[in-house]
Amino acid sequence: MGSLAWAVAKPPLPALAGGGGVLPEARALAARMRIRDVEIYPFELRMKEPFTVAFETFDHSKGVLIRIRTDAGLTGLGEASPLLRVTGDTQATAVHAARQIRYLLIGKDPLAIERTLGLIGVHLHSNPAIVAAFDMALWDLLGKAAGLPVFRLLGGDTTTFETDLTIGLETPEAMAASARASLAQGFRTLKIKLGQEPAADLARLQAIREAVGGAVTLRIDANQGYTVPQARYALQHMERFNLQCCEQPLDHKDLEGMRYLRTVSPIPLMADESLFSPSDALRLLREEACDFFNIKLMKCGGITSALKIAWIAEAGGVPCMVGCMLESRLGLTAAAHVHGAGRAITMADLDSHYDFTVDPILGGIRVAGGLVTLPEQPGLGADIDPAFLRKLERVR
Ligand SMILES: [Mg+2]
Repeated sequence: MGSLAWAVAKPPLPALAGGGGVLPEARALAARMRIRDVEIYPFELRMKEPFTVAFETFDHSKGVLIRIRTDAGLTGLGEASPLLRVTGDTQATAVHAARQIRYLLIGKDPLAIERTLGLIGVHLHSNPAIVAAFDMALWDLLGKAAGLPVFRLLGGDTTTFETDLTIGLETPEAMAASARASLAQGFRTLKIKLGQEPAADLARLQAIREAVGGAVTLRIDANQGYTVPQARYALQHMERFNLQCCEQPLDHKDLEGMRYLRTVSPIPLMADESLFSPSDALRLLREEACDFFNIKLMKCGGITSALKIAWIAEAGGVPCMVGCMLESRLGLTAAAHVHGAGRAITMADLDSHYDFTVDPILGGIRVAGGLVTLPEQPGLGADIDPAFLRKLERVR
């Protein structure tokens, strides 16, 4: 721990005469703090069981861990969880981009997040997952420098909120059994992966609703699996299952189809794969193409962009969910800080860590009984397990 950490790591901070909220020596150190190095570690997490959605079955997830080191001794952690079919990037492209970003950032002020993201944006066309990793590492540093958890730094005070648990695409019987098991773990909201033949999907919902009863909130995700006629048929026949919403029934580009579907669907629609950036959020509002947004750090490029989407959503009257890719509890913790800060964010789907055989993260969010609890430590409040890190190979 560096001297800056020493200066800010003693909550509560003493009240200072003259209105200063931060110890003067910490503020002075923060002002001249610079990025000394960026460590890049590719990693892989195996899944307990294969997980199927409309377009793919997964048995592992390949991510990239980023650790930004500063000359003040503070470090910031971030995670990229690319998903080719959704984000267009992979572990390999994320590592390649990370090596480029590393050289851009060395010597720079880690607290100037907007300036840094602008710099990265000039050099990088896409690769949102690795941008998210750098962005969350910078927010981790800013929180540590300020002595505040990120959600409090952002003005939030929600420390606990509900998350759903996602049920992968299987036979009706297998999905009903998974749904029952989820209730036994305390979850009261389930997200059901669908998006195959409407008749088969109706049978799945029938089995699940019968298994869980009427009091459980069900939301569904078709992952772009339907055509417009299929979606129209499916959603109209799903009304009897009392669903909260349907995520991304159509291809991500088909905003016209989404707008039409809203006029005939009894079930509200949520945009996921159609929503990457704040510009996409504006376009979805303008096209009246959805009722809800699903914000994911890996699509939008991190906490900064997620907040911008949440503010657009709030202005446009669109409630949001914060969701996840196949990421560890580090990425989930970063997303949870956004949930804790954003008033338009009323739903959460932060459950991917349940899928993996190991949990490489210390601290961070706790999830129990369907409730997420945010850490109160400065920054993200999550660290990498040294035993896990020791097995990883650092990319130079
Ligand atoms: Mg989705």
